[in-house]
Amino acid sequence: MLAAIEAGGTKFVLAVGPSPDTITARHTIPTRDPQATLAEAAAWFAAQGPLTALGIGSFGPVELDRAAANWGFITTTPKPGWAHTDVARRLAGALGGVPVGFDTDVNAAALAEHAARGGAGAGAGSLAYLTSGTGIGGGLVVDGRPVHGIAHPEVGHIYPRRAPGDSDFPGVCPHHGDCLEGLAAGPAVMARWGASLSELGEGHPAHAIIADYVAQACHTLFASVAVEEVVIGGGVAQTPGLVERIAARARELDAGYLPGGARHRIIAPRLGTDSGITGAMLLAARAAAEA
Ligand code: ZN
Repeated sequence: MLAAIEAGGTKFVLAVGPSPDTITARHTIPTRDPQATLAEAAAWFAAQGPLTALGIGSFGPVELDRAAANWGFITTTPKPGWAHTDVARRLAGALGGVPVGFDTDVNAAALAEHAARGGAGAGAGSLAYLTSGTGIGGGLVVDGRPVHGIAHPEVGHIYPRRAPGDSDFPGVCPHHGDCLEGLAAGPAVMARWGASLSELGEGHPAHAIIADYVAQACHTLFASVAVEEVVIGGGVAQTPGLVERIAARARELDAGYLPGGARHRIIAPRLGTDSGITGAMLLAARAAAEA
């Protein structure tokens, strides 16, 4: 039985199942302090029977270098109480020392969307998963493997050029001001217009401005990594019509230039809101196979 956690800043989704695409039980707990949250997660898993491996897709930043002393930690997060918290080894230990796979929540989601593409035997091509909500995060799977680099991608913090009609807003990222997240995540929408995109309605100019920024990020991913697909997840992207608007704007920004142009696609998640937990199940399966 595989065990999986989608570890988010507001909730932990827990699941078990015999294979990555078969979840037989799931449970959601609120994210409180690390001690209480991890203990509650471990207790639920312990009640599910013997486990072979654990996969975790976590909010971050996280340490992904297997050689680092703090591998499997959430590191410099501003979330109160969670900075420099051992998540992976602590949970694996609580579950009898099972093998554990650990990655970012968005890399896990990217992995799930990638592996779900052709069913078994998928792995051709490359994919990015971009999620926008309280922040903007991006995961990348290239040639079947999540991309880590020296740490992990932070696509939300690239600097876009200003969208037409949005030259004055300073942005809300505490580190960069007007990076992508500072201009286009949920808090930036609230700061400018006092309501979410869904509340503002499709005719409001905010939709074109946010679509422009996210389309720029997609264009950057197409141009720099040549991914075939960018999957748009998260709350802001669940806004009716927004994914289509982003795709249309990205085609305008490309201006017919990029090689493989028509094969670059911007789509909604195939797995709906299950991308993250399914990706964590895949991380568990990989950890079991490598053990
Ligand atoms: Zn930033």
